[in-house]
Amino acid sequence: MKILRVCQHCGKDFIAQRTTTQSCSDHCAKMYYKTKKRNEKIAISNKETLIIKAKPLEEIKSKDFLTVKDAAKLLNCSVRTLYRLIDNGTIRAVNLSERKITIKRADIDVLFTLPQTI
Ligand SMILES: [Zn+2]
Repeated sequence: MKILRVCQHCGKDFIAQRTTTQSCSDHCAKMYYKTKKRNEKIAISNKETLIIKAKPLEEIKSKDFLTVKDAAKLLNCSVRTLYRLIDNGTIRAVNLSERKITIKRADIDVLFTLPQTI
């Protein structure tokens, strides 16, 4: 049996003996296998990264008082936007120390329960 196939690694046409053959040569077969394994590892790693990234959000949700950075993450907006909301009085924030603005978690929740005044 002779079947025309396209190599999964180098993309060249080749004549295969079987319909299951995926690469033109031993070299390409090895490379294709390596790439496949590598992509699998990358996919696993990306998944782990997502889990790690999602964890802080769970932590933030459990806190009663937030930093501007945490609150921005929670609201899925930029820190800059949040500062603007604090400046215009939309979100209440307390200046605990010179560089530490604290927002009460409950004040953020209130934003979504009371009718907007703007
Ligand atoms: Zn090849």
